[in-house]
Amino acid sequence: MPSDPRTWTLGRPARAAAPTTWATPPAPAGPGAHVAVVGAGIAGCCVAEALTRRGGGRVSVIDARGHPADSLPPHLLGLLEPRLEKDASTAATLHALAAPAAAALYDRLATEGRNPWRGRRGAVSAERGRRDDAWRRVVVDRMGWPTDRLALLDRDAATARIGVPPAGDSVLWHPGGGALSPPALLAALLGETAVIPAVVASITPGEGGGWILRAPDGAVIVTADAVVLATACETVRLWPAAHLPLRPTRGQVSVLKAAGPEAPPRVAVSGAAYASPPVQHTDGSWWRILGATQRPWRPGDGDPYTPRPEDDARLRAALAEGWPALADALATEPTAEALAGLRATTPDHLPLAGPLFDADALAASHGDPLRKAARTLPPIAWPGGLFTLCGMGSYGLSTAPLMADLVAAQVTGTPWPLPDPLAEAIHPARFAVRALIRGRPVAP
Ligand SMILES: Cc1cc2nc3c(=O)[nH]c(=O)nc-3n(C[C@H](O)[C@H](O)[C@H](O)COP(=O)(O)OP(=O)(O)OC[C@H]3O[C@@H](n4cnc5c(N)ncnc54)[C@H](O)[C@@H]3O)c2cc1C
Repeated sequence: MPSDPRTWTLGRPARAAAPTTWATPPAPAGPGAHVAVVGAGIAGCCVAEALTRRGGGRVSVIDARGHPADSLPPHLLGLLEPRLEKDASTAATLHALAAPAAAALYDRLATEGRNPWRGRRGAVSAERGRRDDAWRRVVVDRMGWPTDRLALLDRDAATARIGVPPAGDSVLWHPGGGALSPPALLAALLGETAVIPAVVASITPGEGGGWILRAPDGAVIVTADAVVLATACETVRLWPAAHLPLRPTRGQVSVLKAAGPEAPPRVAVSGAAYASPPVQHTDGSWWRILGATQRPWRPGDGDPYTPRPEDDARLRAALAEGWPALADALATEPTAEALAGLRATTPDHLPLAGPLFDADALAASHGDPLRKAARTLPPIAWPGGLFTLCGMGSYGLSTAPLMADLVAAQVTGTPWPLPDPLAEAIHPARFAVRALIRGRPVAP
């Protein structure tokens, strides 16, 4: 457990002389440690991959649904596309770093014979309203990326790529983006790592250190030196002491029977809705995904996983806003199936990546000093060896690899892929720290 006083910078100007920032994690698990990753979604699979790559000892992955290659619908597709902004906010910087890192990892998997990409490569975005042609020009200038990563396409060039014209004068072209098969991607990330099919009901400290993970009947699933909870909204139930402000947002996609391999859009497009390029199924048929709705979900709202017919109409209407010609073309492609799920979102739309903590203990030890803007603070009593990566919102495929690499670096004590201020911006304790600075309760 570290014992040096920390300088807390969140919510205040960073001090140049800060010895360490408040986001410094607990002591890393030692070499050869056994790390249990709970959750085999994109977050957990990226953490498992990063731990293995960083020499993190033995890695066990546990998921209630078993191996994702067996449990996820084979028709599911997700889009990788950077979320770009014209300012240099922390969120914009994180997204601008994360998406190329994700594409590079997925490209590496492809070169190793485990290709997660589906359909023709590249993604086009054309949002409407404020994000007009002038906005896109500013974004391209500000990013300064090479044209094999980002380019502005005029209407004719966009039409040639997509197969139908966009509504506006230009679109952003992301050659490194595209459509991914989540079952193939997660299997590729896991590689040889097996998934233990089990529901984790509790996580308790072991007598001699480490953690004990138990099933609902009390049986021990594994004991581990360190644990990473990559369990989306379930993280709140598994570690309630942190009072994490995770909110479920329901989403639904439509699986369309595509008219053929050249039917537009030939590359992924996005705006108020997104559409993938046509992808061929093993039976020779062509399909695509039209996505995705976004609605906050509360326990009284019914089963979130049951598809709702009205959502298909909503998606087609949303597509028509930004891509009227495309919406007309897709009117001839029937909806074969709909798939629904929950996203875990946070109030600032950034993930939670880093050590877990006890918010009430933090309030007791740090409430007063934080409120009084004390320059140094008592050491944080981290429950050592307990981490999370959750709250991935709508961009898990883009953000998970970089965020997982940060968590794996903290677990193993290896160099971080992000500077301290960016790690603070996604630290799981940031909401509790902000609440304490403002003299508010730590529970949301
Ligand atoms: C309709 C829809 C469309 C989307 N489209 C895109 C897209 O195009 N691009 C994109 O980047 N993102 C997209 N997203 C968002 C993306 O799916 C999420 O960001 C991502 O799934 C989050 O991954 P995760 O690993 O954090 O959570 P999850 O995928 O939810 O994985 C969590 C895992 O933890 C397991 N688990 C939970 N509790 C326990 C427990 N107690 N014991 C054992 N296992 C447990 C679950 O079984 C699950 O497998 C979409 C989301 C939805 C709903």
